[in-house]
Amino acid sequence: MNILLIGAPGSGKGTESELLCEQNGFTQLSTGDLFRSNIANKTQLGLEAKNFMEQGLYVPDNITNGMVKEYLKTKNSNLIFDGYPRTLDQAIELDKMLLEVNKKIDHVIYIDVNDSILLNRLTGRLVCEICKRSYHIVNRKPLNDGVCDFDYGKLITRPDDQEDKIKVRLQVYNDQTKPLIDFYLQQNKLIKVDGNNKTPKEFHTAILKELGL
Ligand code: AMP
Repeated sequence: MNILLIGAPGSGKGTESELLCEQNGFTQLSTGDLFRSNIANKTQLGLEAKNFMEQGLYVPDNITNGMVKEYLKTKNSNLIFDGYPRTLDQAIELDKMLLEVNKKIDHVIYIDVNDSILLNRLTGRLVCEICKRSYHIVNRKPLNDGVCDFDYGKLITRPDDQEDKIKVRLQVYNDQTKPLIDFYLQQNKLIKVDGNNKTPKEFHTAILKELGL
């Protein structure tokens, strides 16, 4: 089964992906993480993506689709697509890429969260430099300040989690990604889940129920 998570930045896509991977045997395909690791390794792809990411803008579709196409050569089932597709062009391209290997997106989970909650989560977010797990300065503190509970990696604030960048990212999400909701509604694949007032565990339970897992 291949699953796609759609939701604004800060809606909990990453945290839910972690749980689906750890507890239900999925593999996460996060285009944001792939870009960040390309930037850290100073690859050509990373250089091309960096400027866009720093401004809170989407990396152009041809670069993003090309990166996903390469990834799908290594694995194309039991995937959680986290942060891809984010535009209609990417969604159409993904359907084609999966069809070529006789696979498809089975379910699309749309995580609905209010803007004020998103802003609070993102401005307080800390991320482990090593495993990418997310924390929050108030709501989800690590056991030891500044250090990941799981691998003792340093917790950092992502450069695009500053308020001016967050506002751009939310606007870009509303303009370019929200139309995907209709696209998948028409394909009869959309499952809308309220992500406003749930702990990650409660949210995960709700998703498993929706997926019949
Ligand atoms: P994320 O970690 O998913 O929040 O992504 C961080 C940033 O990476 C985004 O703000 C974009 O600049 C870039 N990015 C990630 N996924 C995509 C995508 N599917 N299309 C375009 N840009 C992306």
